[in-house]
Amino acid sequence: MLPVVALVGRPNVGKSTLFNALTRSRDALVADMPGVTRDRHYGVCRLAPRPFVVVDTGGLSGSDEGIEGLTAQQVRAAIAEANLLVFVVDAREGILPLDASILTELRRSGKPIIVVVNKTDGVDEAVALGEFASFGIAETLPASAAHSRGVDTLVAKALPYLPDDRDDDPALEDQGIRVAIVGRPNAGKSTLINRLLGEDRLIVSDLAGTTRDPIRVPLERDGRRYTLVDTAGVRRRSRVEEAVEKFSVIKTLQSIAASQVTIVMIDARENLADQDLTLIGHAIEEGRALVIAVNKWDGMDSYQREQTQKALERRLQFAEWAKTVFISALHGSGLRELMKAVIRAHAAATKELTSSELTRTLEKAYEAYQPPLVRGHAPKLRYAHPGGSNPPTIVIHGSRTKHIAPAYRRYLEGFFRKRFRLEGTPVRIDFRDGE
Ligand code: GDP
Ligand code: GDP
Repeated sequence: MLPVVALVGRPNVGKSTLFNALTRSRDALVADMPGVTRDRHYGVCRLAPRPFVVVDTGGLSGSDEGIEGLTAQQVRAAIAEANLLVFVVDAREGILPLDASILTELRRSGKPIIVVVNKTDGVDEAVALGEFASFGIAETLPASAAHSRGVDTLVAKALPYLPDDRDDDPALEDQGIRVAIVGRPNAGKSTLINRLLGEDRLIVSDLAGTTRDPIRVPLERDGRRYTLVDTAGVRRRSRVEEAVEKFSVIKTLQSIAASQVTIVMIDARENLADQDLTLIGHAIEEGRALVIAVNKWDGMDSYQREQTQKALERRLQFAEWAKTVFISALHGSGLRELMKAVIRAHAAATKELTSSELTRTLEKAYEAYQPPLVRGHAPKLRYAHPGGSNPPTIVIHGSRTKHIAPAYRRYLEGFFRKRFRLEGTPVRIDFRDGE
């Protein structure tokens, strides 16, 4: 499971600026995609070889809400789920009473704390650090989030506090495709998992479930093996727990990260919500192969179906390469097609591509349509080679590639996708200059 780092602090100290600096994706895959919004509070930091979830707790404002109010409860929930707390303070304002009470709260959790003294640009760093030394926290680091200064050091200092249980265990390869099933509450995730597993198996997995361990449930269907990595749907124990269970973005991000193929479940009877799109955006940003399951297709008349299909087509344009499957988890219809889509998406995501094929395709794409001139010069694209799979990554060497517009990147993506039939998976393009 991806470890979790929570950013906590007063308003205006620079938490969201720091959050952006930590979670900015290398190739801005999603930021470039019209129609997808990123989640302002949850993201994945990939600045180090080991990724982790970053939560911007936002809240903890003035005295009326303060440490006791409703936002404080949400902040506490984030603290409870975090492996490490990053306490952000403002070098220019110094220590305010609210800082002291937040620190007391953080200490009570018993979790490791790193203090980030932000906004050290233009102030005497030593003096600023000196003031916050009175907190007595060993790891107190200067930063200027607005200028991305101190961010790498923070990441380096954070890593030792984060558990290292990556999913690159070779034994996992034998257990089939790792599939995450995510979606909003009531989309039908547990119903689907029950359907796929059969009741007996779910009871077994319930007993095996502990609170923090990721749950991996083996599944065999039509002679194929899968591992369901699901933390939100599988672990239901009682009706009572079900009722109070809240949608956990953290758990969803962890499931997506642990998967090779993510199934995003959408309730056909609800309007497509921003949260659905954000989830799909997260899966794409994580580079996961993607299948969209539109559930509760039973009992809808042809007019309703048509309206739903139209709305989906319109709003899912940014992920038109992902297969949409209409299912009824309750009645078990469409599940064969769903698993077929999972297999296809996985095959596309792990397809072997050769440098010569990629370079030839690049040449064709470039011939057909060249990137717009930058101050009278055209960016040049020379050759391509594979840079990884799941998602398929295509490294393109050339010059002035920094000036290549998102639209041209998307054009290349589409061209490669079509040529190599990369349906069901995001495609990454990594431009490199002058080699
Ligand atoms: P949050 O409320 O803690 O999330 O704080 P924000 O990230 O929204 O930042 C509050 C204000 O501080 C904004 O105007 C930022 O531009 C500014 N800010 C954030 N980081 C820095 C920094 O490193 N240096 C300076 N000078 N200003 C910063
Ligand atoms: P989860 O919160 O995503 O795990 O959703 P559940 O699996 O708990 O399902 C939420 C509700 O939707 C339950 O009342 C299910 O019986 C119902 N439901 C799930 N799948 C279907 C379906 O395919 N058709 C219909 N009509 N109802 C469904």
